[in-house]
Amino acid sequence: MAIEALYLHVPFCALKCRYCDFDSAPCRDAGLLAGYAGRLRSCVERLGAQGFLGACRTAYIGGGTPTLLGAGLAEVVRAIRDAAPALEELTCEANPESLSAALAFALKEAGATRLSLGVQSFCDEELAALGRLHTAARARVAVSEARAAGLNVSVDLMCGIPLQTAASWRDTLEDAVKSGAGHVSVYPLTVEEGTALERLIDRGAFAEPDEDFQACCMEMAREVLFQAGFAPYEVASYARPGKACRHNVAYWTGVPYLGVGRSAASMLDARTYADLRDALGLPEAGAAFGPSGEGVAADAPARLRFTQRGDALPGEDPGPVFDLECLSAREAAAEDLMLGLRMTGGVSAELLARAAAVIPRDALARAVKVACAEGLAFWEDAPAGKGPATGGARLMPTRRGWLLGNELYGLFWDLAAS
Ligand code: SF4
Repeated sequence: MAIEALYLHVPFCALKCRYCDFDSAPCRDAGLLAGYAGRLRSCVERLGAQGFLGACRTAYIGGGTPTLLGAGLAEVVRAIRDAAPALEELTCEANPESLSAALAFALKEAGATRLSLGVQSFCDEELAALGRLHTAARARVAVSEARAAGLNVSVDLMCGIPLQTAASWRDTLEDAVKSGAGHVSVYPLTVEEGTALERLIDRGAFAEPDEDFQACCMEMAREVLFQAGFAPYEVASYARPGKACRHNVAYWTGVPYLGVGRSAASMLDARTYADLRDALGLPEAGAAFGPSGEGVAADAPARLRFTQRGDALPGEDPGPVFDLECLSAREAAAEDLMLGLRMTGGVSAELLARAAAVIPRDALARAVKVACAEGLAFWEDAPAGKGPATGGARLMPTRRGWLLGNELYGLFWDLAAS
């Protein structure tokens, strides 16, 4: 296995939204932003020159607000294109207020294929309640600018926003459809500890998001988007034909990915981790690896997940610091099942059979049985002549399993415990 997906994090925003607990700091210092873009570019060039991006199929520049980097973002896009010759999809996250027609064209020309816009709502009062900088009108213009540049556009929406009603949520969904975006992601607002939104709710300025209302909003999104030709393919993601985000699908299907930048997460198999350890300055994963990274011991972790701390990028001196989490083969298999069930297509019988090699069969069979008995999942019938042994059948989430995702995912993640 090799790196097939690359994520770059831009930890800056023009202003902090009230609900946000992501790693993003307010920044309007043009010199600092240009410097960060230059460092990201150099990091990508180093990784490319070392041959680590040869198999990379998707890249995603997220944040934060990548479009705050302006023309520097287009340079980073170009560097990724040069360093990753097999790339098939390159997404930039953007906020409506920091996108312009010129920037959208520059991104497309540099090699971006998608733009994921943080719209959240097409209602000005709700946007103000969230502390967003843009208006609904600006969001509509930003979608048109990105589409005119030839980018595939995704729109992020949020339900359970203070002041939101069922009618305003329907209007937002219909506006998203009318905008011509090919992809829509829908998230329930959560109130994170220490945020301005939490303080406002504590003071009684806003009511807390109502979970039942949010569940109704998720149902309405499914209905409105489905009728408009969007298919749900993941618990929060809807796409017109051919417009699913391949990069996000990589996260849910166990594809190895590398994250660069403060707070960026990576997931690699043991062999790729050993290959990259010196180049990225990754920590040793206990005694499982040989002293110079060559050779992977039989009892090595199957999967390693690491998150970058601090501001240094890989290859810089001194290099970044990482938090490391090692997953056993059993934990990795349970994770694959749990993530697979986020997807509308569920998990294949082949994946279940592979999981059964490391998870006790009776425990796995029990989890499948409970999921089906509780109406959280079902077996899709195998095509004629094919059975589970040939991978012809799939275990898929039901509508109830989609709504009660945590119950379904918990059943399979519990299989990780030895
Ligand atoms: S734009 Fe996104 S990352 Fe930036 S502060 Fe708002 S929610 Fe957070």
